[in-house]
Amino acid sequence: MEAENFIQDIINGDLAEGRVTAVQTRFPPEPNGYLHIGHAKSMYVNFGTALKYGGKCNLFFDDTNPSKEKTEYVDAIRRDIEWLGYRWEKEVYASDFFDTIYEYAERLIREGKAFVCDLSADEIRETRGTLTEPGRESPYRGRTPEENLRLFREMRDGKYADGEKCLRAKIDMASPNINLRDPVIYRILHASHHRTGDKWCIYPMYDYAHPICDFLQGVTHSLCTLEFEDHRPLYDWVGITLGFSPKPRQIEFARLNMTNLVMSKRYLKKLVEEGTVHGWDDPRMPTLAGLRARGIPAEAVKDFCARIGVAKAQSECEIGYFEAVVREYLNAHAPRAMAVVEPLKLTVTNYEGEEEVDFDVNPLDESAGTRKTVFGKTLYIERADFSLDPPPKYHRLKIGGYARLKGAYIVRADEAVTDERGEVVEVKCTYFPESRSGNDTSGIKAKGVLHWVNAARCVDAEVRRYDHLLRDADYAGQDFSERIRTDSEHLFAAKAEPYLANHEGSYQLLRTGYFRAFSEDGKLVLSEIVSLKDNFNK
Ligand code: ATP
Ligand code: MG
Repeated sequence: MEAENFIQDIINGDLAEGRVTAVQTRFPPEPNGYLHIGHAKSMYVNFGTALKYGGKCNLFFDDTNPSKEKTEYVDAIRRDIEWLGYRWEKEVYASDFFDTIYEYAERLIREGKAFVCDLSADEIRETRGTLTEPGRESPYRGRTPEENLRLFREMRDGKYADGEKCLRAKIDMASPNINLRDPVIYRILHASHHRTGDKWCIYPMYDYAHPICDFLQGVTHSLCTLEFEDHRPLYDWVGITLGFSPKPRQIEFARLNMTNLVMSKRYLKKLVEEGTVHGWDDPRMPTLAGLRARGIPAEAVKDFCARIGVAKAQSECEIGYFEAVVREYLNAHAPRAMAVVEPLKLTVTNYEGEEEVDFDVNPLDESAGTRKTVFGKTLYIERADFSLDPPPKYHRLKIGGYARLKGAYIVRADEAVTDERGEVVEVKCTYFPESRSGNDTSGIKAKGVLHWVNAARCVDAEVRRYDHLLRDADYAGQDFSERIRTDSEHLFAAKAEPYLANHEGSYQLLRTGYFRAFSEDGKLVLSEIVSLKDNFNK
């Protein structure tokens, strides 16, 4: 199998040496919030690698932290993975293994490899040493296995308060890797767990539980982000000490970071709780629920993950690159439609009645065919498409000037009606019957093509446009709370083709941008997905 990245190189080596015969991975979210686009990368790596090798990928809920976890998040996570189109082999929870994880702890105690420590969390931190100095051994390190076992069982049975004791692995207080300096592997926490209820008042720490859960699931390659690199020696210590064979192998890759986006559940939660956004699925949120609400296709998210690649080097991806990938996908797939964001009335004085005109559903995709829309005497065009005082080379409408109405006729603007403030409220024009699109024999040249809607048939729509939640790179380094844009949603009262009111989906609104059309409280909403033009500098 040809390797596409360094992870696959390692896997190829493991397969060639016969260290493993099949590939098993897992996607390990902690159910303490919604998944975001960074998790899409993790899924791409975990599910994608398993798929490539004909292996399996489990959905593994890392629920060792009962105070922050909720069933609501479990459900949201499942929904988001399904939306991306990934299928997990088994759904597994760390809490499924709590009994076995506990048994392994007793075994470490019996073998003299773990001890009950009475130091407080602060004292443990103070005696841990630094990068340049070794730590100091706990005065409780010499307890006998018998005493440790008795105390550990008392911990389990609820005899002690939170923080009063903990279980630590007995490794090496002088290790250059701080994670190996007798790390805490069990803590007392009198908290109800979303799945095991009040059965436990001691919970295993992530670094201890994770290698065990990986092994018990048959994970061969445990793929995670770089912040776990320093934890790998502990991951390996657990596997080797407990004699796991084949021992799962942890491989780390760089997280996805993106400009103008917050990508930490902790901050995202804050935005939701403080009401800066409407919820986890607000279209400005980088959550998968937010991207979905925004109208971003799952395929574009996966394509983006494939294109940014998997590497060890930390980097920050321009949000413009993500948008360019989304735009490319929508340009190829989204049907075209018309809506006018800031309407100006256009009356075709020499036209009577109505007629159907055709336009391409997607000019890039012949198989998409054409769709009909109804032309008439009274239309709306964009206010910005008419000017009383046009700059040079203005190809939109001006008095005496010509422009084509998309899919219909060429018109000439004859007169502008203004209100008492001098503002144009209506433009009167003449159409040329021989200029009909597809059969233009008029000989008139019109450079500009304008989108329009029929005033007699169009529907009211609310157009929503968004700025990025975080201000741009100029603000990088500033605290997140200073970079946040609170006024990032902009609403417009627009006019849209009636077709949009009963065909939900993602569209290219001609000359306007890519929008998701849906109805909310009986009203048509057109919510911007990405702008029309590519302003990403490749
Ligand atoms: P956050 O910091 O946003 O809360 P997390 O790492 O705590 O994220 P988990 O639920 O623990 O979130 O993540 C599940 C998996 O997704 C982990 O393996 C984690 O490494 C990976 N992951 C999280 N964020 C990113 C990211 N930005 N890029 C790539 N992988 C990520
Ligand atoms: Mg985490």
